[in-house]
Formats: sequence, C-alpha cells, structure tokens
Amino acid sequence: MSANQRTLRAAPDTGLFIDGSWRDADDGAVREVVDPASGQVTGRVARAAAQDLDDALAAAQRAFGQWRQVAARDRAAVLRRAAALVRERAPAIAATISREIGKPVAEAEQEVANCADAFDWCAEEGRRAYGRLVPARQPGVTQTVLREPVGPVAAFSPWNFPASQAAKKLAAAIASGCSIILKGPEEAPGGSAALVQALADAGLPAGVANLVFGDPPMISGHLISSPVIRKVSFTGSVPVGKSLAELAGRHMKPCTLELGGHAPVLVFDDVDPEAVARAVAAAKFRNAGQVCIAPTRLFVQRGVYERFAAAFAQAAGAIIVGRGDQPGVQMGPLSSRRRLDAVRALVDEAVGLGATVLAGGAALGGPGFFFQPTALADVPARARVWHEEPFGPVAILDAFDSTAQALDKANDTAYGLASYAFTGRADRIAQVSEGMQAGMLGINHFALGVAEAPFGGIKDSGYGREGGIEGLEAYTVTKFVTQRTAA
Ligand code: NAD
Repeated sequence: MSANQRTLRAAPDTGLFIDGSWRDADDGAVREVVDPASGQVTGRVARAAAQDLDDALAAAQRAFGQWRQVAARDRAAVLRRAAALVRERAPAIAATISREIGKPVAEAEQEVANCADAFDWCAEEGRRAYGRLVPARQPGVTQTVLREPVGPVAAFSPWNFPASQAAKKLAAAIASGCSIILKGPEEAPGGSAALVQALADAGLPAGVANLVFGDPPMISGHLISSPVIRKVSFTGSVPVGKSLAELAGRHMKPCTLELGGHAPVLVFDDVDPEAVARAVAAAKFRNAGQVCIAPTRLFVQRGVYERFAAAFAQAAGAIIVGRGDQPGVQMGPLSSRRRLDAVRALVDEAVGLGATVLAGGAALGGPGFFFQPTALADVPARARVWHEEPFGPVAILDAFDSTAQALDKANDTAYGLASYAFTGRADRIAQVSEGMQAGMLGINHFALGVAEAPFGGIKDSGYGREGGIEGLEAYTVTKFVTQRTAA
C-alpha cells in the first residue's frame, strides 16, 4: 500500500501522520472508535504496522537533525501559529472529543483551550533554554553549561484528555528542538489528530511531529527499543508505566512518567462544610472522575463530617448525567465498557464488604457506559477501592480527629500525585504542606493543572514533571564545555 494514501485523515476516520502526511496502516488494519454514550461505532482508526513505525523513526531521526538547528525564536513562532489555529478550530475539535470520549462539550472546549495554552507557554519558555557560565579555577579557561535537545522522543498519551495530554508532550518536545513520535489514544484519536494537523498547517516541517495509533504494547516495544529514540514520555496507568520504565531502563533512556493518583482531600472544621462539599463534588465528577488528580479519598474532621457528607451526597445526586452534547449535561459516560465494569466491580466489592452508599452506587441502564455519581462511607480498610484508583465517579468519605491522623490516612497509599486541603488556619496549612506525601498540593482550591507549573507525582504515581520549566528541561540534556584559551 502506498505511503501517501489518504483514506484515513482526521476524525471520524483517523489515519497515521508520518513524515508530514496522512496515511493508512501499511497493512490497512483499523480498529473501531465507539461513542461511549451510545455504544455505537462512529469511526475507525488506523493500526500501525512495524513498517509504519520504521518510517516514523526514520522521519523523526532525519527531522531532528534539522529541527534542532532551527532558532528557538522560529520554533516558537510555529507553536504560536498552531495555538491560534487550535483556537480557531476549537468548536469542531471539542465536538470530536465529546463524541469520542463522552465528556460534556463545555469540558471539551476547556480542554482545547488548554492545548492552545500549552503550545503558547512552551513557545515562550522554549526561548529561554539558557545555559550558564561556571567560573573557572584558572585564568584563560571558560566553562560553559549548555542545554541541548535530547533527541527523538517516543510519547504515549491517554484517552481521558485525548487532546490536552498529547498537547503537553508535543509542545514541550517541539519547543525544545526535539522530534516526536506520539502514540495517541485509540479510544479517542480525533483530538491528537487535530493537533498534528494544526502544527503542520502552522509550518512545522515534515517528520518533526508524527502520530501513530495501534496495538500499544507492540508500538511501545518497537519504539522504545529503537536506537533512534532518546526519551520516553508516558501518561497512563501504574502497571503500564512500570513496564515501560523497565524497557526504557534496559535501553538507558530517560522517562517522564505521569501515572495514576488516588488524591486525598482534608477538610478541616474551620471551613464551611457545605460550600467545600459542593466544590469537591464539582472536581470529583469532572470528566466522570476519569482524571488522575480527581479528589477521591475525602477525610473530614469529625465535627463537620455529617454536614459535609450530607451536602456531598446531595451535590452528587443533583449532577445531570447524559450525552456530552446535550445542553445542561454535567457528566457523561465512562470511556468504555471495560472502565464501566472496572468501576462497578470496585463499588460492588466495597458495598459487599459493608460500605454505606450515600449517593449513586450503580450503573445507569441504557446502551451507553454510564455510572451514577457515587459517594461511599464506612468503607472497610480491605476494600480494593481504598487502594486502587477508581478512575471513575466514586468518592470515599471518612472522618478524622487530628491533623496528624488526617495526614496518616492521606499518606496510607502507594500513590502520590495530587492532594488537597481545605482550611484557613496557618498552622494547619504549614503542617499539611510539610506532611503530605504528594507531588502536588492544592489548598482551598483544585487548580493544579496550569501550563506554567510542574505537574507530576512521587511514589507509584511516577517521576518527572510535565509543565513548568521542569517540563521543558525534561526534553533537554546537559553538556559541559570547558575551553582553554589557545597558548
Ligand atoms: P490501561 O493500563 O489499559 O491503559 C492506560 C493507557 O496506557 C492507555 O492509554 C493505553 O493505550 C496505554 N497502554 C496500555 N498498554 C500500553 C503499552 N504496553 N505501551 C504503551 N501504552 C500502553 O488502563 P485503562 O483501563 O485504559 O485506563 C485506566 C487506568 O489508566 C486508570 O487506572 C488510570 O490509572 C490510568 N490512566 C491514567 C491517566 C493519567 O492521566 N495519569 C490517564 C488515563 C488512564
């Protein structure tokens, strides 16, 4: 099959974008894209064959040699034009995201805005990849530290934010002077396809950004073990992240791993429990809870526990669930039947062990993959939902008596991504800031994911950061040059 065939492009049928053009898979293989609100097939996505990946590797290698020579100012100009195109095309991109993954259109629009924001921020900050001069020990010697682009990147972005998670990786790689092969999410390919199209239309040279889909283990195995690839970036689950880290370690490649979370929220007795409960519910049920920083374990000081629990249950019960493209809908379906089954199993097990259902607790009937906004209390310690990220619309409530006890409960997990606390007291803020084991802490609000700040976790939640200057540095390597004035 010719490399230039263009049967599949962007949504509803999505192809591979390799070396500046769209193509079908070398063997013509596709998989179906399913609308999670109806269970109906709405499109197809190409499944890359080994030949496609080899073509992408060759393109990324060639393009890296050229792109790294392009001035940071000119790289920034391409990203800024792409950001403008993404904003112009936002309604269509958001409609595709909403149809493919089920989230309300308003949330999809916010996601698209975040993509443009990531492009703009990396464009600006990529111009400041400064090195430094280190004072030498002898006269006549100049010591320079340079930051150079690391090389072609293999990146893997997930389905829950099918565009903005891809945008973070594309933007940082491109701004730093790297080329990239991105494996986008097969469940919802249209968002990442729209981004690479915008980059190409903005003048990004062929081969700098390549997009593939297919069989995830086959693709990651092929790309990470190729000598062309110099860096790996993965956002997804803990088990897959660990296996990719092993593979990358075998080939001595640095990784950025943004894995799952099981975020605690500490609600102290000096806040308005009803107002905080409403804020927590809004954050919890965004994207049907399929958010790695979603608040899930809600620890509430005993004196305000009952009021908080009642208000949280009421807020959960009031959420309007439905198709993401229907006006007024606040929460869509889960992304797939597999996710629906996984969430149902966690809730059923907890209830079977004696948990109390404060709100929801069951799948909604019908053809799509809908699950009720759910709040559980009295969950026994051995229930899996305490230890496994539900990645769905499920929150667990528990009471605490002291700050030390709250921190013990919050830190009693293998995860360490996001965490939150609600209090106005300086002593509590200081104790929580010091004692919380997490990569991120939000105090009295939930806005952790901004382009200019480092985003990432500790413990099983991964290592490395996306966003902020740390996110860009991850796409560079340090070179030390010491020069003695010729005698
Ligand atoms: P999963 O483990 O099957 O897949 C997670 C992601 O990894 C998917 O995007 C998948 O395409 C990709 N993947 C799977 N195997 C791969 C491989 N060998 N090489 C490269 N990529 C591979 O999990 P799932 O059921 O699709 O999603 C649920 C879990 O994923 C949740 O528990 C959550 O922890 C995690 N997740 C996390 C984020 C995040 O933002 N950190 C996003 C999406 C999913």
